[in-house]
Amino acid sequence: MEYVSTRDKSRKVSAAYAIANGIAPDGGLYCPTSFPTLAAEDWHALANMDYKGRSALVLGKFLTDFSAEELAGYAAKAYADDKFGGKDTAPVVPLADGKHMLELWHGPTCAFKDMALQMLPHLLTASLRKTGETRTACILVATSGDTGKAALDGFHDVEGTKIMVYYPVDGVSPMQKLQMVTQKGENVEVVAIRGNFDDAQSAVKRIFTDEATRAALDRDGMMLSSANSINWGRLAPQIAYYISAYCDMVQSGAVKMGGKINICVPTGNFGNILAAYIAKRMGLPVNKLICASNRNNVLTDFFKKNGTYDKNRDFYTTSSPSMDILISSNLERLLFMASGQDDRMVAELMERLSEDGSYQVAAEVFEKISADFDAGCCEDAQAAETIRTLWEQEHYLCDTHTAVAVRVYEEYRARTGDETPTVIASTASPFKFCRAVIEALGGTLERDDISQLAVLSGLTGVEAPAPLAALADQAPRFDRVVDKAEILSTVALLKGL
Ligand SMILES: *Cc1c(COP(=O)(O)O)cnc(C)c1O
Repeated sequence: MEYVSTRDKSRKVSAAYAIANGIAPDGGLYCPTSFPTLAAEDWHALANMDYKGRSALVLGKFLTDFSAEELAGYAAKAYADDKFGGKDTAPVVPLADGKHMLELWHGPTCAFKDMALQMLPHLLTASLRKTGETRTACILVATSGDTGKAALDGFHDVEGTKIMVYYPVDGVSPMQKLQMVTQKGENVEVVAIRGNFDDAQSAVKRIFTDEATRAALDRDGMMLSSANSINWGRLAPQIAYYISAYCDMVQSGAVKMGGKINICVPTGNFGNILAAYIAKRMGLPVNKLICASNRNNVLTDFFKKNGTYDKNRDFYTTSSPSMDILISSNLERLLFMASGQDDRMVAELMERLSEDGSYQVAAEVFEKISADFDAGCCEDAQAAETIRTLWEQEHYLCDTHTAVAVRVYEEYRARTGDETPTVIASTASPFKFCRAVIEALGGTLERDDISQLAVLSGLTGVEAPAPLAALADQAPRFDRVVDKAEILSTVALLKGL
């Protein structure tokens, strides 16, 4: 399988090269040149595998320069039972009205980012080896909260790598911040940026494209790489869990083999839902992909307003901070994939985005996109109401991001009458967003953030995940705050790691 940039498909690279480098030199994102398909015997094999096996099989379809043994070995380590609390890696919990909650947060940092970021260090270090790279890979991460901690957990003390995480100083939950600033490891650095997630993401992109910075790092034996979902190695491991969920639903009788499902995903950077789209293109029987947004509803408008993407709008800080994004990077991959790999069109649209902050997709391309997708959004108050009713009526506790998806799904179902069983991506433990969840349930907040874990447990009888409870005993290690204009200077910190 070969990979090309969304902005120039003339130069083909291997999966290992795409993963080692993260982003293409022209600023585009690497994509496979075709979609591998799952044959009948693949489905048969998948049905009888555990999550590790399913992950390795699906990854093998894309990462053809890795052997089946290599991938099976990485999956065994990435999804080891002790990392996922001895539970199923990605269990499906059936609820009323066709809802099937795909719980993706049983990993070490309690958000779905673990599903990819426990795997990425294995893929990345192997990719460096396979491409003959001898420099130290410096992984730069812009985070709206969950990616940062998951990347730190995945990469800390991984040989041949250093990792630096940038988060918006007021844009993450207290628990997310605590998770990041207490991170252990000799090769890690955490920096707060004054601004929002888009500022952090743009600042990191500026480092990537600054020739002088790259040259200086090179002289010191370092190269830049990315653990954001712009890296194919971050996206590819996310495809497997939708396929795994389907296998589980066939086994439980929720759907017949070959029968269709919908998939509803709370969306920010468009990575998680793009993985579902790719699973569909591989043959997963999907009726609609439902894109759920919070008040930052730039994607809802894109899907509802005939393919007009316009980030020139107010930015809101919401109770689902990991979705507070106005530039959804992975939409670029969808445009490329859905348009039959029209790299010139993508390059042109991305130019418009960076110059005007908006673009308009041609009608015939938008028609192809909108056949697969539906979209909706909701406000914090509606998400809170959903958390409460889901708890009161079904005794199911969900976080603020997942609540947005549940709400949007319920609206979709009422609007369309579509009763297809629907996988809803449950993207974080409710204990990561304690304050908002406690408030939604009408509980009384404690002053400090660790105490909220006990409050939420007391309200619901649900136990807090062990990795969050353990934060009580950990001292903060990082307190640096910088202006976005200063970001280039922070690169010097890498040398000291
Ligand atoms: C990152 C994140 C999202 C958004 O996922 P994207 O891949 O950026 O669309 C949703 N929910 C939670 C809890 C997250 O951490």
